[in-house]
Amino acid sequence: MSLLIDDIGELVTNDETGAGPLGILRDAAVVTDGERIAWIGPAARAPQADTRIDAAGAAVLPGFVDSHAHLVFAGDRAAEFAARMAGEAYTGGGIRTTVAATRAATDDELLRAAGRLVAEARRQGTTTVEIKSGYGLTVADEARSLRIAGQLTGETTFLGAHVVPAGADPDEYVDLVRGPMLDACAPYAKWVDVFCDRGAFDGAQARAVLEAGAKRGLGVRVHANQLAAGPGVRLAVELGAASADHCTHLTPADVDALAGSATVATLLPGAEFSTRSSYPDARPLLDAGVRVALATDCNPGSSYTSSMPFCIALAVREMRMTPAEAVFAATAGGALALRRDDVGRLRPGAKADLTVLDAPSYLHLAYRPGVPLIRTVLHNGVPQC
Ligand SMILES: [Zn+2]
Repeated sequence: MSLLIDDIGELVTNDETGAGPLGILRDAAVVTDGERIAWIGPAARAPQADTRIDAAGAAVLPGFVDSHAHLVFAGDRAAEFAARMAGEAYTGGGIRTTVAATRAATDDELLRAAGRLVAEARRQGTTTVEIKSGYGLTVADEARSLRIAGQLTGETTFLGAHVVPAGADPDEYVDLVRGPMLDACAPYAKWVDVFCDRGAFDGAQARAVLEAGAKRGLGVRVHANQLAAGPGVRLAVELGAASADHCTHLTPADVDALAGSATVATLLPGAEFSTRSSYPDARPLLDAGVRVALATDCNPGSSYTSSMPFCIALAVREMRMTPAEAVFAATAGGALALRRDDVGRLRPGAKADLTVLDAPSYLHLAYRPGVPLIRTVLHNGVPQC
């Protein structure tokens, strides 16, 4: 089954064949064949297809790649958010509230809740989403979180080292995570991650978990330098991590380390928004040539948004990214952070994952914040809405 999308006013390809950093083509068309893109070029030369979508002059982008989300959980923490907005500080300790609710939920309840969030993200243009465990914190609850995540995405991440569970000894817990818990979770995970930060896991504990995960064949990603400067980013670079996530508190040495590496700096402005914290400045990273991704960090405690357009708007307004840099980071950047070359760019052979905006340009994603600008989402070549 082939599909022609024509009369595209502005096509963001993120590919070298187009103009500028976003590889833009004007008056363009895209033809998909099944799950893949078959042809891209000028609308006037577009081949025939079985069905047709008229973009009516609108902008078309690759589907967003949300490379950092925590979607398997139960309950919400709206009251904690309200207390924070009334002046209480964010410490990360609220994770334990979600752990208790998640352990008490059935598999079915967790799958339905996570599925609802994936559908919500899809309506906002997200076609690839990474999902972490980390609200189970027992061998059985972490393994079932990953089994559930695996029903929704191929990008599953074992985050047993999210927080030390209430009452546990930190070093004994690290031994559990890198031993029996990893054994139970590795078959369902593509990645391993650790919350390496003040009040969470220190550099030595994070290294022990990440090295054990890597030895089992899992790719490495790290929650690093969100709450304070520390060893997370440099550990991520040293271990060849695909991504160091948050990067809110960076030293010049952290920026240098990232610039000389293949590790992507994934910025999560929803977390700063929802914890009323200072945003990282993306400028030193971008100017040093660091590869940057944007993601939602969707989770019930510190960033309960599934909206990549919202994160793009925040990145432009608060982190000194240009609209083009933010859109690239939310698409091709997220793909780099997941080491994927079949998503985040539109070119023949790539997955037919794209969004048609209700706007003439990608600029509107930052220029018109909070407005539902996603008209149509194509996922695996199938129109979603
Ligand atoms: Zn996170």
